[in-house]
Amino acid sequence: MTLKTLEKFKLLLLEQKDLLEKKLETIAQRDPNQEDNWNTIFPNFAPDEFDEEESADEVQEYINRLPLEHAMELRIKEINKALGRIKVGTYGKCKNCNEDIPQKRLEILPETDICLKCKAKTNK
Ligand SMILES: [Zn+2]
Repeated sequence: MTLKTLEKFKLLLLEQKDLLEKKLETIAQRDPNQEDNWNTIFPNFAPDEFDEEESADEVQEYINRLPLEHAMELRIKEINKALGRIKVGTYGKCKNCNEDIPQKRLEILPETDICLKCKAKTNK
């Protein structure tokens, strides 16, 4: 992969990370002690009053947020790993067969570290 292409994927990764973090900020809080660790915020629709029905809604909202938060957090971790691979020069190689991952695949999923052939094998 040329430096120019690498730079393109680096920008793509940073852009996606930025988008994810912005979305995460609406439902979670960054852990001050651990970078890239996020905690889902428990919603409080009306902090000054206690209403049982509303409280049930808040619990439901919290339950809805958990898997979303988890999925976004995982994706940010994958993006960070991909950025790390750009630094050490292994980006774009399949971790399984060591072949180049087609750039078309990387354009759709820039944080991937496995080619489609190997992925199909591991899913079976
Ligand atoms: Zn492979």
